[in-house]
Amino acid sequence: MRVWRPSRINLRQLILMLSVCSTLALLVAGALGVYQAQREQLISDTLDTNEAFAQKLAATISDILRQAQQDLAYAAGRMGRSDMDARVVQTELHRLREQGVSFNAVSITDSDGIISFVVPKTLQLEGRRASQPGPDVADRYRIATISRPFVSLLGNLAVQLTHPLQTPDGRYLGYVAGTFYLKADGGLSRLISQQFFRNDTYVYVVDANRLMLYHPETERIGHPVKGNTVIDEVLQGRAGQQRLVNSQGIDMLAGYAYAPLSKWGIVVQRPTAATLSRLSGLMRHVLWLTLAPAALLMILLWMLSYWIARPLRELALLVQHGYEQGLARRVRSVRGWYFEAQQLKRALLAALDMVEARMGQLRDEAYVDALSGLGNRRGLNAALLACKVAGRPFSVMVLDIDFFKRINDQYGHDAGDRVIQQVAQLMRSQAREADALFRMGGEEFLALLPGTRLAAGVLVAERVRAVVEQTALLPDDVVTVSIGVAPWCEGDSALTLKAADEALYRAKAAGRNRVMAAPDCLQEGSTQA
Ligand code: GH3
Ligand code: MG
Ligand code: MG
Repeated sequence: MRVWRPSRINLRQLILMLSVCSTLALLVAGALGVYQAQREQLISDTLDTNEAFAQKLAATISDILRQAQQDLAYAAGRMGRSDMDARVVQTELHRLREQGVSFNAVSITDSDGIISFVVPKTLQLEGRRASQPGPDVADRYRIATISRPFVSLLGNLAVQLTHPLQTPDGRYLGYVAGTFYLKADGGLSRLISQQFFRNDTYVYVVDANRLMLYHPETERIGHPVKGNTVIDEVLQGRAGQQRLVNSQGIDMLAGYAYAPLSKWGIVVQRPTAATLSRLSGLMRHVLWLTLAPAALLMILLWMLSYWIARPLRELALLVQHGYEQGLARRVRSVRGWYFEAQQLKRALLAALDMVEARMGQLRDEAYVDALSGLGNRRGLNAALLACKVAGRPFSVMVLDIDFFKRINDQYGHDAGDRVIQQVAQLMRSQAREADALFRMGGEEFLALLPGTRLAAGVLVAERVRAVVEQTALLPDDVVTVSIGVAPWCEGDSALTLKAADEALYRAKAAGRNRVMAAPDCLQEGSTQA
């Protein structure tokens, strides 16, 4: 039989591989899912925060400018009513400069465009023509203005708020101006930079002409901003949020809002990378949290794979060397706790039963004489061994048909066979259940009579002899048999058989059709028909 060799991989390894792979795949998919969700959440949170901040800043800037305009209007009223009394003007300018929104400079420009008063005095601008390229005098007369960024007389980039000055009877006297220097420390930039909140987030402000009014990198202030979709949006008066790549090629998350009073756009933005830098920490955290359950799951899988593979593995190991004694018993002890294992075990047991039944049958056939149906020589050996093992005493009876050659010659071989069969049957009819009958070849028979003393054995032999003689086995002839009987010779069955043979020989010699007992154990003499 071909020996089954275990292949390199087994069921348990397969189950483990499958489950570990699927667990890992699940973990990776889960981590990717969490990553994606968190990433979107972070981006959307940052965009919301930036927009909210831009709106708040826009509102604050509008409030401050409105406040500044009110301050200017109030001061303009007082100065106008005093008909530009130098003392009143000085007081109002100082108040404007030091209180409220803290302009970098405040000044009065007369109706001819010449600066007449300046605070702080150190600027020494009195008598010079104002440089502000804003609306013309007629406009100033009517409305307050907020200028676009311009370069002041002293070379500062500035934004100026103006308010017309007039006497109570409506005579135009010029305008009062409050100036914010965009690059220097002052009201506007302080306001914006103070609002600064987090690490990488920053603010910039553009005016209606896309000129940069405020930016943390001061060198950019005063320059136009080009090709920025957020600026396009915000300068149309809209608030909102956008992810964009800025002029330096940096991916940004921007929120924006419009300050309508000054027509400025406020943009709050943060590099996307800075926002997402929190993600790796978050993912590490998620990984740590998943590690313990994953380890538990692995242990569980390891155990489960063992329990699932166990019955099949046991069955496979049992059959790997083919059929052997006691295999069925061991197969029966395998615990097939699920359907497939149970069915395999059942099928295997059925097959083993069949094999064992067939082997029993073959064994029986090997011990049985085909013609007479009695045991054969191999059967006799087995029976002798069994008696020896069991330590049971027995008598032996050896029987030979008389003049059988003649029967064969006279009636043919087939008739001879039938006589053999009939003698066997007659022997069986006289034997007990426990007696074992054998055909030793030809027309010679042997009976083991367990637990039988010689005298009883002789009686049995005599019964057999008589019944054969009295039965008409052949049409015109009487068939007779000679029988030798020997008692159990302590411990040696070969001696017993030999003694029985010698008794048979003597029965033949004495004229046949008779029973002779072995002389050694002879107590009663021979009997004769
Ligand atoms: P004896 O009284 O001395 O026993 O004389 P016998 O003729 O019976 O002599 P023996 O026992 O030696 O004879 C054996 C004969 O039995 C020889 C053989 O032709 C015959 N014989 C042996 N086996 C068979 C068999 O299976 N069938 C038949 N029909 N004859 C057999
Ligand atoms: Mg004979
Ligand atoms: Mg013979």
